[in-house]
Amino acid sequence: MNKITNHMPTAELQALDAAHHMHPFTDNSALAKKGARIMKSAKGVWLTDTEGHRIIDGMAGLWCVNIGYGRKELATAAAAQMEELSYYNTFFQTSHIPAIALAAKIAEVAPGDLNHVFFAGSGSEANDTNIRMVRRYWDIMGQPEKRVIIARTNGYHGSTMGGGSLGGMAGIHAHGGKIAGIVHIGEPNWWEQGGEMTPEDFGLLRARELERMILQLGVENVAAFIGEPVQGAGGVIIPPSTYWPEIQRIVDKYGILLIADEVITGFGRTGNWFGSQTFGIKPHIMTIAKGLSSGYQPIGGSIVNDHVAEVLGSAGDFNHGYTYSGHPVAAAVALENIRILQEEHIVEHVRDVAHPYLWAKWQALTDHPLVGEAKLVGLMGSIALTPDKATRAKFASDTGTVGYRCRERCFANNLIMRHVGDRMIISPPLVITPEEIDILIARATKSLDECYAGLKADGLMKSA
Ligand SMILES: *Cc1c(COP(=O)(O)O)cnc(C)c1O
Repeated sequence: MNKITNHMPTAELQALDAAHHMHPFTDNSALAKKGARIMKSAKGVWLTDTEGHRIIDGMAGLWCVNIGYGRKELATAAAAQMEELSYYNTFFQTSHIPAIALAAKIAEVAPGDLNHVFFAGSGSEANDTNIRMVRRYWDIMGQPEKRVIIARTNGYHGSTMGGGSLGGMAGIHAHGGKIAGIVHIGEPNWWEQGGEMTPEDFGLLRARELERMILQLGVENVAAFIGEPVQGAGGVIIPPSTYWPEIQRIVDKYGILLIADEVITGFGRTGNWFGSQTFGIKPHIMTIAKGLSSGYQPIGGSIVNDHVAEVLGSAGDFNHGYTYSGHPVAAAVALENIRILQEEHIVEHVRDVAHPYLWAKWQALTDHPLVGEAKLVGLMGSIALTPDKATRAKFASDTGTVGYRCRERCFANNLIMRHVGDRMIISPPLVITPEEIDILIARATKSLDECYAGLKADGLMKSA
């Protein structure tokens, strides 16, 4: 049997990594000089690296390890499925038990009439599916000119050509371009962009950009609107309370399709099964991935409502699919993940225990001299770093300079917390306990203190 060699000294692993491994979203030559931190094992909310550090994972990997690391049941489910039926496709009028069971289970936990699942291998692939699906839907409805999809600046929908184009991140568009027929409106980011308005008024203003864009393009050209219930990679931007109800009103009024990208917010992250429930949204299609399998296997999909599924099924083939759509091993693992979420009442744990406990401490971080607002929904949260809370000022240094310094202090203190610009974000495994939240907050506070001291010493506590 091929044994993966994990007995090498860290420096040798780092050298091989630098020589042969191209990292995503990374300056690879800068990383090669510094050396990657190499993870070796994990259990619950704790990672262990090759140097033996025990690190608390405030990000659940990449927002995905909802049930925590190292659950044997998922390994057993994968091994059993590989022995029973390691692979089969679902293309040419065939199916298999794990895909059937998982689709039925997803329909059970998804709200309302979201009862049909088209499987993909990731969130990006699922969003590519969505682009083709909504355009195909309007073809069949006899309105093939309805092709434009409206999305949002600073949204994140993956990094394939389709996903990256739906996303509103200039840095991604700059590398490889953007496909036609996708336009962007502003994001509901009150802290940065709300000026003198109340958050509620600003939420309405941003939502009404959707109506203006529909009228500008002509409703006869618009297929759909896509948004994350809470922008994740954009910095955990929790919209003002007025935002989603107004978006829903506009979508209903003009009869366009609504896609909720629930790749992060699905499967318990916001204290309900789906973020759409937390924010009162009624999407026609939901994008799922990440927490669907808690990251134990790569799998994603689109949950489609009865009406859209019926239309798509009424006109022959839909010429779309992936070799690994509904992969039996990934499906068996996702099914076991959902069983654990249900039977161990993990969504209720988020809502009734972990969120209230963390919220009290998270909110208290605004007493720190570096922290402006603190936001948290379920177990996804952010804090805005600022040199002046009263004016919500930006730092004079390039955006992200301070956030990066703060993230480095967290890393040094064995806490994984990410920065997006000068916002710090968390999204820990949903199984985190109050004791572990205490450790997370203690390490975050220590890191903020160290970051603040460094900024003062270097003369960086200056407003732009
Ligand atoms: C991560 C993410 C994606 C992309 O998922 P991948 O599995 O990385 O392709 C899409 N949408 C949202 C909201 C995400 O957070």
